[in-house]
Amino acid sequence: MKIVLLGAPGAGKGTHATRLSDDYGIPHISTGDIFRANLKNGTPLGLKAKSYMDQGLLVPDELTVDLVLDRLKQPDCEKGYILDGFPRNLSQAEALTKALAEENDEIDYAIHLMVDDDVIVRRMAGRRVCTGCGASYNTNGLMPKDGHHCDRCGAEVVQRADDAPETVLKRLAVYHEQTEPIAAYYRALGKEAQIDGTLPKDEAYAHITALFGD
Ligand SMILES: [Zn+2]
Repeated sequence: MKIVLLGAPGAGKGTHATRLSDDYGIPHISTGDIFRANLKNGTPLGLKAKSYMDQGLLVPDELTVDLVLDRLKQPDCEKGYILDGFPRNLSQAEALTKALAEENDEIDYAIHLMVDDDVIVRRMAGRRVCTGCGASYNTNGLMPKDGHHCDRCGAEVVQRADDAPETVLKRLAVYHEQTEPIAAYYRALGKEAQIDGTLPKDEAYAHITALFGD
C-alpha cells in the first residue's frame, strides 16, 4: 500500500501516519528523516544535498526526488510506505509518478486530511508548552493546575511563537499554495481521498482504513 499523505500542519498527519505505520507494517517516510539519514551516513546524495544547504540554498527537486526514490528501494518499503511532506510541489509529484511507472508501480492513495484554516488556527492557538521539560499543555482543559507553571517541573508554560495565530495563518497560506496543485493532480488521477480531519481521531482513521476495503 503506497500512500501520499496530504494535510496542513496541525491537521493530524503525524497521528494517522504513526497509526497506519503500526497497523499495516509500512514505514512512515518524511523527507526530513531522509535528509538527516543521508547526511549522517555521508552518502553521495547526502553530500550533494549538503553542498546546497551549506550555501543556504534549497535542495533542487531532482535531487530531492532521487533521495526519496533511493529510500523507497529499501527492503522495508516492499509492502508499501506512507510519504509525508513529499511530494512538496507539482514537479516532484510528476517525477514520482514517472519514476514509479518505470517500475510498473504507482501510488495507491493520496490521503488528503481536510481541516478548515480557522479550525487549525484554533487548535494551534490552544497549544502551550513547558519551557523546562517540554511537556505539552492545551488551553482546552489540559492546563497545569495553577494555570501557568508545569505540573511536572514547575517551569513556566508558554505559547510557542510558531503557534501564534498570525504565524499559523502565514504557514497555512504557503501550505495551500503548494499543496492545492498536488491534491488536484492526484484528484485528476483518481487517487485523491478527502478525509474530514475535524472528526474525532478514531473516526477519521476509520474513514482512512475503509478506503483499503479490508
Ligand atoms: Zn515542565
